Amino acid sequence: MKTLYVIILITKMIYREIGKTAKRASVIGLGCEHLDGKPYEQVKNVIDSAISSGINIFDVFMPGKEVRENIAKAIGSRRKEILIQGHICSANIGQQYDISRDLPTVKRFFEEHLRICGGHIDFGMLFFIDSDEDYKNVFETGIADYALKLKEKGDISHIGFSSHNPVSAIKTVNTNLVELMMFSINPAFDIIPTEESIFTHLEKGFNANSFTAVEPKRAELYRLCEQKNIGITVMKTLGAGKLISSEHTPFCKPLTVAQCTHYALSRPAVVSVLLGCKSPEEIEEAVKYLTLSDEEKDYTDILKSIRGGLHGSCVYCNHCQPCPSQIDIASVNKYLDIAKLDTANIPPSVRSHYQSLAYNGFECTQCGNCENRCPFDVLVIENMKEAHKLLG
Ligand code: SF4
Ligand code: SF4
Repeated sequence: MKTLYVIILITKMIYREIGKTAKRASVIGLGCEHLDGKPYEQVKNVIDSAISSGINIFDVFMPGKEVRENIAKAIGSRRKEILIQGHICSANIGQQYDISRDLPTVKRFFEEHLRICGGHIDFGMLFFIDSDEDYKNVFETGIADYALKLKEKGDISHIGFSSHNPVSAIKTVNTNLVELMMFSINPAFDIIPTEESIFTHLEKGFNANSFTAVEPKRAELYRLCEQKNIGITVMKTLGAGKLISSEHTPFCKPLTVAQCTHYALSRPAVVSVLLGCKSPEEIEEAVKYLTLSDEEKDYTDILKSIRGGLHGSCVYCNHCQPCPSQIDIASVNKYLDIAKLDTANIPPSVRSHYQSLAYNGFECTQCGNCENRCPFDVLVIENMKEAHKLLG
């Protein structure tokens, strides 16, 4: 008689603190856009599967009443267990999803979402701040004041925003009004020059000829968020599916979902990667990340194929391990990168993160093992010395 073996995949969700909000988000979150236009049963199956996998953060940017109601109904009595990102300025204009900066319209759509969610939304996200005009239309027309009033009334717990542009995002973070940023992060977007629109690359295909090393404005944005203790949730992790497609990838080969997820989760300040799933199977695939080995998640070889390379920039990949002095080299490099943003005003939190590492730059014996292993020629020994000088 044959024995039937049943393999059960056990995943244990990991949670990260969302900046200074005192809330914790699952590292895998759910972007709900693919539930739009789907029957309630399908929405319920996806939401049930997400919650039972430990996912506790959902992005609901869509202004459509039906999809918002379906999601709220599917969450049901579990509402308090879930963090919802609802978007201020997302509106349905002329039967099309759009951005509105008209305050009465903005209020109508957000207040409908509030009602559907039982009168409270965790993160009121200022929607789509991608240009100076967007910034002006949000911060100089009463929309940001409206968000602040929502927070004062307790209708939302925190103000956040979404953006695809590092320059506008830096400006928004520096208002000190926001506590969460949803930003598009993946290895391809991170090497597109700031002046080029990511949407052009998505529509027309990635133009690998314009790729640079890690784009400094993006690196600055992630470090600024870490410095100001602002959490980042990630959208477009897979570059609208292009990065995992052999036909459209701009790299030597397609990345896997897990590699894209791991890349985003390795950036400073990132708390959760919001993956757009439309079936329980896709949720299962997304959370499989939690069960994989470091080798299976490793994205280094693919980054090395970038034209021009990432010479000298730490991408926090951990390839330099093991260090005989047990230093967490990627973390020391990450804190050093943040400290170097403004050496005269290093945030106490960054200093304290550095000082609470079990082993830090001071323990470096300059053996050089890490530099031999680093695929990106990072001057680790110099970095260890500098980190200790600035943060020790
Ligand atoms: S020093 Fe090199 S190997 Fe180590 S984490 Fe940074 S990029 Fe990766
Ligand atoms: S050079 Fe320093 S950081 Fe690098 S492996 Fe040796 S002890 Fe560790």
